Amino acid sequence: MYIVLLGPPGSGKGTQAARIAAYCRIPAVSTGAIFRDALARGTALGQAVSAVRMDRGEYVPDDVVLAAVDERLALPDCANGCIFDGFPRTVEQAHGLDAVLVARHASLDMVLELIVPEAVLIDRFTGRRVCPRDASTYHVRYQPPKVDGRCDLCGSPLIIRADDAEDVVERRLALYHEATMPLAKNYRNRVQYRAIEADRSADAIFEAVKVALGACMPQTAAAPPSQACSAGQ
Ligand code: ADP
Repeated sequence: MYIVLLGPPGSGKGTQAARIAAYCRIPAVSTGAIFRDALARGTALGQAVSAVRMDRGEYVPDDVVLAAVDERLALPDCANGCIFDGFPRTVEQAHGLDAVLVARHASLDMVLELIVPEAVLIDRFTGRRVCPRDASTYHVRYQPPKVDGRCDLCGSPLIIRADDAEDVVERRLALYHEATMPLAKNYRNRVQYRAIEADRSADAIFEAVKVALGACMPQTAAAPPSQACSAGQ
């Protein structure tokens, strides 16, 4: 089964994608992670995206994104589908995804959109602190470290990630509104679409996600974990 997870930056897509992946026994495919890995390894894809200011939220060109997704779907772990995190991000990519799936004799089984008010997103970003050494994350109010400004695990001074700086956050959200919201609107007309209120804890969001998965594919609701999400494959 193929699931698209939509939502603005800071809506918790990565966390939910990992949980859905484990629950449905399909891999989470994050295009952001694919590009970061390609850059780190210096592959041809890495070279193709090296000019894009990903740290400032600029989008990778659609043709590059679609080629990377097509290549990823060809790997054996995607034989039963996957959950897309951070893809598609433009109307063009959404059309491209439909074509890629048709070529695989498949189609989208579900589109989940995480809905979070903009003020909450900005609050999440501006309060986020990370440890430069072990990458653990904190929030000044919602998840403060034990000692102010210091990592709980290694004691290093916490920093603000470059892409969490206020001007960058504003640009990332503006780009989301401009390029990605139109495709979310298109998806809202599809039967497989479900909106999830995501201004709450990760656990509460995931409970709502499971209900949505069950409502779209009723057989999954009562299925034991080993069979959960098996419908529509
Ligand atoms: P975030 O949700 O914080 O933006 P991601 O890991 O999803 O983080 O993406 C990191 C970066 O990778 C994005 O800022 C963008 O530059 C690039 N990227 C990821 N997915 C796409 C996509 N589908 N289309 C264009 N660019 C993308």
